[in-house]
Formats: sequence, structure tokens, C-alpha cells
Amino acid sequence: MELWFTEIFSENTGITIKVKKEIASENSDFQEMSIIDTYEFGKIMILDGFIMLTDKDEFIYHEMIAHVPLFSHKNPENILIIGGGDGGAVREVLKHKSVKHIDLVEIDEMVISASIEYFPHISSGLKDPRVTINICDGIKFVKNANIKYDIIIVDSTDPIGPAVGLFQREFYRSIYDILTEEGILVVQGESPYYDSCKRNFIDINRELKAIFSFSRPYFAFIPTYPSGMWSLGYARKDGTDVTEPVRKKNFNTKYYNKEIHIASFAHPEFVKELLG
Ligand code: SAM
Repeated sequence: MELWFTEIFSENTGITIKVKKEIASENSDFQEMSIIDTYEFGKIMILDGFIMLTDKDEFIYHEMIAHVPLFSHKNPENILIIGGGDGGAVREVLKHKSVKHIDLVEIDEMVISASIEYFPHISSGLKDPRVTINICDGIKFVKNANIKYDIIIVDSTDPIGPAVGLFQREFYRSIYDILTEEGILVVQGESPYYDSCKRNFIDINRELKAIFSFSRPYFAFIPTYPSGMWSLGYARKDGTDVTEPVRKKNFNTKYYNKEIHIASFAHPEFVKELLG
């Protein structure tokens, strides 16, 4: 018998992937997790029915959520990552030699343990001495933080359950307060394509614009996310419209490069219209 996994994207669309076998299934206080092995994408982590990452295409999302903000900053030292318990963003951030400290704030320990067990190539940086893992709600962490960060990355699930507050103005205001003067924020920004995500995309960018004097989403092609056209919200505290890398890359990447960095900020006409 053949086994297929389907993630529903919208009322009438989704993605269907042929499954080799189910590897694990677990519930926490926050969400339901499944890990499956597939023919095309290798192992996949699924939270509440939504694909979080796959062996095959995770490099695109993690390189783009980390290297675009870090290469936009002259000397990123202190980094805060909210969500991202799989460790993919941490792995990429650690490639920057200037980085002295990373606070990872993940609400659900189950995600960290599962990534360490089933995705060692993604979670490899979690044991680095520069990384402090904080198991708590990112919203509370940001409100109570008493140090400033050069880069803040919000690598969250979609705005449901515990992640709802990570998409609200009050949270972005707290983030603004704990960024250094040249600090940069990047957030998982949803897709502008399907109606089911479009509203979130519009709302995220409206809220960022309300708090930061410069914000602009950029895009990456991620095959297993709805429509494949995925956005990341980008905002600078200093208000400058720098969307180009300010340092040279001196390590290997599989997706990110200078040309992609610059091009990712280009917007198709329908996106310009959505952003008003
Ligand atoms: N790239 C992924 C995506 O969009 O499909 C997101 C990856 S990462 C697994 C998202 C993480 O955000 C999850 O592990 C989830 O537990 C965490 N998260 C959700 N709400 C949170 C909150 N309020 N504070 C901290 N972490 C949170």
C-alpha cells in the first residue's frame, strides 16, 4: 500500500508527497509533531499538519533567513533567534566569524530534542559554546530582555497557537527597543500568493512599517512552502534603505550569494499592489 502526506495550502490546493515511512509522532503542550521519511525530500518535520523543514530544501530557508540580515550588517556580534528550535538558522548564523553570542528562544523543547535526534546536520550548531538555548515564550523574553542585539531573527510557525503574538505590533515594538541603533530584524513573512497566506503577508508588512522607518520584504524560492514563493520581512532601526550586502562572503553556501541577496528584494507587480 502506498502512503502519501498532504499539507493543505488553501481550500482547493495543497502539496502531496509520497511517504517511505513514519519515523516519529509526538505531542507537546503546544503542538503535534510528526517526522516522516519521504522519497523526494528525505526526512520532513511537520508541526500541526504544516511542513516546517525537509532535508532537501531546508538550506534555502535557513540561508536566506540568516545571511541576508547578517551580511547587511557591518559587524553582527549579538544575535537573537526567536523560534527556530530546529537549529537551522543557528547553524547558518554561526558561519559569521564576528558572531559572539546567540540567544535562541524556543517555546517547545520537543522541537529541539527531535531536531537533535533526527536532523543532526541541521541542529549541529545548538551545542556551540556561543549559543544559549532559552526554553520560553519569545514574547515574554523580548519584553524582559536587558541586552541589545545587532540582529533579531523571528523564525516562527504560522500565526496560530503560541505564535500569534509574534506577528503583532506590540511584539515588534518590544523588538525595536532591544535592537542596537544599527540593528536589523528579519521575520518569517508568509506568502503573498494564496488567499490563505496573503492576509498574513499584508498584515506583517503593515505592522513592520508602523514601527520601523525602513522595512521591505524579500523573497526566497522554497519548494515545500505554499506556492513556493516565500517572503521574509526585513526592517532596519536606522531607517536606511540598505538592501545590499555590506561584507564579502567567505564560506560556502548552496543558495545564498550576493546576486541573490540583491535580487531577493525585487517585487513583482502584484506584490507591489498588495503592499500599497
Ligand atoms: N521555518 C519554519 C516554518 O515557517 O515552517 C519555522 C521553523 S521553527 C520549527 C518554528 C518554531 O517556532 C517552532 O519550533 C515553534 O515551537 C516556535 N514558536 C512558536 N511560537 C513561539 C513563541 N511564542 N516563542 C518561541 N517560539 C515559538
